[in-house]
Amino acid sequence: MKKILVSECLYGGRTVRYDAGDTTCEDPRFLKWKEEGRLVKICPEVFGGLPTPRPDSQRIGDTVQTGAGKDVTAEYTKGAEEALRLAKENDVAFCIMKEDSPSCGSKTIYDGTFTDAIKPGQGLAVEYLRNAGFVVFDEDDIGEAEKLLGE
Ligand code: SF4
Repeated sequence: MKKILVSECLYGGRTVRYDAGDTTCEDPRFLKWKEEGRLVKICPEVFGGLPTPRPDSQRIGDTVQTGAGKDVTAEYTKGAEEALRLAKENDVAFCIMKEDSPSCGSKTIYDGTFTDAIKPGQGLAVEYLRNAGFVVFDEDDIGEAEKLLGE
């Protein structure tokens, strides 16, 4: 059975978001894959050693920083490496990651100004995954993911 790497905040069941919010994915196709045991979940930021809740952070150049200017690049990098390790270990068919996140965003991310503005871009974990050849979808692209899965 082909596996799929997913953001843990989409998988649900544990509070992992920086704001302790709930963004569990309720798409029936996603829920079916969950039931089948196909989904491999990871929250790169928690895996990187950050607490929940945690300060809002954004990509700024080659770094990731909190709104107060604390450099958290090392934690985000560790989380990205863990995501890639899990994707490889499970030989996942592709990934479905939460949009806009500085770790998991695949089309857009916050623009580094902490003004709620977004820009085209990708999170650090997604950058690692794509650089290794993995295809990454977001939670709005389940239909495309289903086509690629072909099962
Ligand atoms: S790092 Fe990814 S999995 Fe973790 S809360 Fe943020 S978007 Fe969700």
